[in-house]
Amino acid sequence: GGSGSEKDREVNVQVVLRCRPLSEEEQKSNVQSAVSCNDLKREVTVLHSLFKQTDKTFTFDRVFGPKAQQRAIFDHAVAPIVNDVLEGYNCTVFAFGQTGTGKTYTMEGEIRQKVGELSATAGVIPRAVRHIFDVLEARKADYSMKVTFLELYNEDITDLLAIEDQSRFPEDRQKRAISLMEDGKGGAVIRGLEEIVVYSPSEIYSLLELGSARRRTADTALNKQSSRSHAVFSVYIHVKETTAGNQELMKCGRLNLVDLAGSENIARSGAREGRAREAGEMNKSLLTLGRVITALVEHSVHVPYRDSKLTRLLRESLGGKAKTCIIATVSPSIHCLEETVVTLDYAYRAK
Ligand code: ADP
Ligand code: MG
Repeated sequence: GGSGSEKDREVNVQVVLRCRPLSEEEQKSNVQSAVSCNDLKREVTVLHSLFKQTDKTFTFDRVFGPKAQQRAIFDHAVAPIVNDVLEGYNCTVFAFGQTGTGKTYTMEGEIRQKVGELSATAGVIPRAVRHIFDVLEARKADYSMKVTFLELYNEDITDLLAIEDQSRFPEDRQKRAISLMEDGKGGAVIRGLEEIVVYSPSEIYSLLELGSARRRTADTALNKQSSRSHAVFSVYIHVKETTAGNQELMKCGRLNLVDLAGSENIARSGAREGRAREAGEMNKSLLTLGRVITALVEHSVHVPYRDSKLTRLLRESLGGKAKTCIIATVSPSIHCLEETVVTLDYAYRAK
């Protein structure tokens, strides 16, 4: 964070804030907005003055107020990162915030209007995919691409792109075990995860729609699982280039687009002893991610990647030369004020 500072060149973590508009229902029932955004000054103010207390202002690398369009978020916060991935870097974009503040809207949005065409409300993932193909096609590059899409819930990995086992009897169907292994080079490999080779944006949109629908199905079955789970969509790109000296050069980049569990899970985890264990499991990845990012920003010797599955599987895409963007999302509603402050405090610490 902090534009132009010395720190900027060493730590590649950018934190941007997005405040969604009041919903139609909220407007109908005259819910007051308690958040004021100044996009130009990159400031967001929480209006504690509504409760006769002092307002609190936070500065971020960018601030996107309620009027900000999906396209603006992509162009300003995400496109530079995607361009790095095409140069062979591993990068990660996180959506972080309370449930109901627009994480999934920001990451996925409405994927497409018509077959193959992006909707104005399409989110970061379909836009990133489109951008990658556009750039590679324009360069007439020799490339290959594959995607994975997984969900992490209670430290268990589910493959959102698993190919359905067509066996006639449910008891015969194999549930493929997915395990996370160290690759011996500081990275991780996920065994059993479907890696799908893709040739066009519309294929990726279909996979995204499939995985996203599966996530929503799990919601009804397990009581809003998505608010407690992380969804990780990854794009692996190999670009073959020929240098001026006629040498072949392979650039391998990876882009992770992560829709994190609701940040209310963090606030809850500290409290309530009885549920501590369950909460601990539920939030291990979210808490560890916070510690990892703090350690990176503070240049700590020890970065606790190993403490959770999420940080293990993203290890090669966090820290070092990897660029990271955290999109913190908040609601403007006065009823969410407490959670909004928690999100802003947490996100601000990552700056
Ligand atoms: P989360 O994933 O954080 O729980 P959602 O993305 O599901 O939240 O958003 C909650 C609701 O608010 C959805 O109906 C979504 O369409 C709407 N929404 C969120 N952000 C925006 C936005 N920037 N503009 C318009 N609608 C939004
Ligand atoms: Mg969501």
